[in-house]
Parts: sequence; C-alpha cells; structure tokens
Amino acid sequence: MTSVDTLDQVSEILSHAEKKCVARGVRLTDKRKLVLSSLLQMNKAVSAYDIVDYCKKQLGEIVPAMSVYRILDFLQEQQLVHKLNLVNKYVACCEIACDHSHEVSQFLICSSCHKVKEIKLGKITEAELRRDVEEAGFKLVSPQLEINCLCEECVKASN
Ligand SMILES: [Zn+2]
Ligand SMILES: [Zn+2]
Repeated sequence: MTSVDTLDQVSEILSHAEKKCVARGVRLTDKRKLVLSSLLQMNKAVSAYDIVDYCKKQLGEIVPAMSVYRILDFLQEQQLVHKLNLVNKYVACCEIACDHSHEVSQFLICSSCHKVKEIKLGKITEAELRRDVEEAGFKLVSPQLEINCLCEECVKASN
C-alpha cells in the first residue's frame, strides 16, 4: 500500500477485510475493526500503545492495551496485519484489499519516521534463503525479512 489518504479508502479496505473474515468463518468485530482502522489511518509501523493512544485521541474510544494485543494477534492470524519484530511494531498488510493469497513479505522500514513498505520476496529468493539457512544447520521459522532503511523523504531531510 502506498498511502491511505482518505477515510473512504480506509472504509473500503475495512469492508474488504470484513469479507475476507466472513469467508474464513471468523468475525471482524467492531473492536477489531477499530484497531485495524487505526493502523490504516496511521499508515506506518506503530506499537500497540500508539494504537491505544490513537483510538483515545482521534477516535474517542478507550481500548485497553491488553485488548489491543489480543486483537493484533487475531489480525496477524488473519494476515491482515504484520508484526515487525525488529522494531516491535505493527503494520497493516499491503494486500488487504486484494484477493490473492499472501506470499512471503519483506519489509523496508525507515528507521527515522517508521514508514514501512511491504515488498514481495520472489519465490526463488525464498527457496534460496531456505537452502542457505539449512546449509548453515538452522531451520527457517519465518522467512519474513525486515530491512533497516531510510525512506526517500528522510534521506532528503537529512541532506
Ligand atoms: Zn502482507
Ligand atoms: Zn522516513
């Protein structure tokens, strides 16, 4: 996802996410929608506490951090949200709005403003990665890659 500019786009993505959940026999409850919506509106990598704050200040809803964590777990299971382990933050999946299945993701994370870009790892790259890991005597648990970067704007700002 490049950017979510308008609330229209957010509600469109939400209704798409809701359909996905229905198709899988799970429910995107109002609270879950609220958390997902905050993530989409903030449009960058954020912590669970950022979501609590956003819900309170921008949406006028009190959601305890424990609930936010539980909801984030659910959203991760449904592949609507990804957790970035490197920065311990969450982002909405860039593919919520489309129907094809999810491949391995690679995340470019701006270390300055926490903007995140999700890009697709090619199938060959994933196989290569798996092979190299196994050759080193390890077992690949998650091929998700998180790469420490600076985004275009932050590079410009630092010049
Ligand atoms: Zn994704
Ligand atoms: Zn940046």
